Amino acid sequence: MIVCKFGGSSVADAKQIQKVKSIVDADPQREIVIVSAPGKRTRDDEKVTDMLYACNALVQQGQSCRELFKKVAVRYTNILAELGMDAKPFVAILEEVRQMIDAGHGAEYAASRGEYLAARMVSTYFGWTFLDTDPLIVIKDDGTVHEETYNNLKKVLKKGTKYIVPGFYGCDSEGKVKTFSRGGSDITGAILARAAEAQTYENWTDVSGVFSVDPRLVEQAKVIKTMTYREVRELAGVGAGVFHEEAIAPVIASKIPINVKNTNAPLDAGTMIVTSREIDGHPLAGVSAKAGYSRLSLRKLMLFKKSGIRHALLTMLHIFGVRPSFSLFGVDSIVWFFETTQASESVLNAMCQRIKSEFALDSIAIDHGHAVVGIVGAGVMGEPGLIAKSTTALAHDSITLNFFNYGSSDTSILLGVSADQAQAAVKSLYNALFA
Ligand code: ASP
Repeated sequence: MIVCKFGGSSVADAKQIQKVKSIVDADPQREIVIVSAPGKRTRDDEKVTDMLYACNALVQQGQSCRELFKKVAVRYTNILAELGMDAKPFVAILEEVRQMIDAGHGAEYAASRGEYLAARMVSTYFGWTFLDTDPLIVIKDDGTVHEETYNNLKKVLKKGTKYIVPGFYGCDSEGKVKTFSRGGSDITGAILARAAEAQTYENWTDVSGVFSVDPRLVEQAKVIKTMTYREVRELAGVGAGVFHEEAIAPVIASKIPINVKNTNAPLDAGTMIVTSREIDGHPLAGVSAKAGYSRLSLRKLMLFKKSGIRHALLTMLHIFGVRPSFSLFGVDSIVWFFETTQASESVLNAMCQRIKSEFALDSIAIDHGHAVVGIVGAGVMGEPGLIAKSTTALAHDSITLNFFNYGSSDTSILLGVSADQAQAAVKSLYNALFA
C-alpha cells in the first residue's frame, strides 16, 4: 500500500483537488492520503495557514477574528461549491472553528485548523474515512514525534479502510493541539507511512522532484532521479525546499522509499529517496544555501587549558536561547554560527557581557548576515579535486569564505559566505561542479 501526502498547492482549489482525486483513483494501492491546508493559487495569493496565524494574532490583541476568518471560510466554501458539494453542513464546522480561535485557543490550534478543515472537506468529497491526528500523533516539546504515536496509529488503522488525514499537527503530552514546524505535513505523511508499513511514501507537490539547485537561480537545473535519505536531509538542512528536513526521521529505520512527485505532471518520475544509491559518476546530489546566521567569535589566550570550557560556554549560550548550528575551534579561539532569529540584539549584548566577564575572555564579538552553502552528495569524500574545484570557482567569482567544514559529514561540505554572496556562491559552485 502507498501513503500519499498532497501539499498546499495540490489542494489550493477545486481543480487541484480533482487532480488529487484522479491521481489517487489511478492506483488502488493509494489508501492513505494526508493533506495540507489550501496554499497559494497564484503568486500573490495567501496561504490559509498564514491567514489563520493572522486570525490568532488579532485575538491576542484583544480583537475578534470574525472579519478575517470570513476570508478563510470563503476559501473552503468556494472549493466545496466548485466541487459540486453542499457547503451548508460545512458552515457550522467553520463557525465552530472561528469561535474556538476567538476564545483564545492559541496560534497552534488556529494554524492546525487549515489542515483539519481541508481533510474534512476532502474526506467528504472522496467518501473516505476522516482520521484526526489529535490525539493520535503525540509531539514532544522539541517538535519530534513521541514513539507512542506509532502504537496509537497501529491500533486504529484498519486494513482495507481508506483514510484522509490532516497534516501538520497532533497533540502535546497533555492532549493540547500542537503543530510541527512550517511545512510539517511532510512529517505527518512519513509518520503514517511508518505506522501503516507502507511500501512507498509518495510526496505530491507542485514540482517534479528535488532539484540539484534552486531552479529560480539556475534555469537549466535538473531533477535528481535518486538520492539517499542522508542527501535529502543535508540538502534540506542548507535551505533546499520541497521536502521538510525532519520528515526523513520516521521512515529511515523502516527504509520506506519516498517518491517526490508533481500533482500537475503525475507521469513525471519525480525523485526517489532511498537508503543508498550507486555513486558511479554521480558523487554529488545538489548544492544549496541557507542565510540568516550570525557569528559569535571568542578569543582567550590558552582558552583550552581550562577543561570543560566548551561545555560551560555552550550552557551559557543556551541560557540566552542561543543554540549554535556550526562550530569552529582554533588554538585560542572558538567561532559559533547560530540562527539570527534565536535572540534579539539586547539579549545578545547581555550574553556577551556575561560571558566576557565570567570567562575572562580577551575578546568576544557577534556579527550578522552570514550564510552557509552546502555541497551535498554521497560521494563527496571520495571525489578527488572537489575542494580545489570549489574554492577555485569561488575565488574566480570573488566570493570570500568565512569557514570551511569538510569531514564532519561524509555527505556534505559546508562553506560559510556572507548572506549577500550566497546566491552567487550557489551558482558558481553549480557551474563548476554540476554543469
Ligand atoms: N500548512 C502548513 C504550512 O503552511 C503545513 C504544511 O503545509 O505542510 O506550513
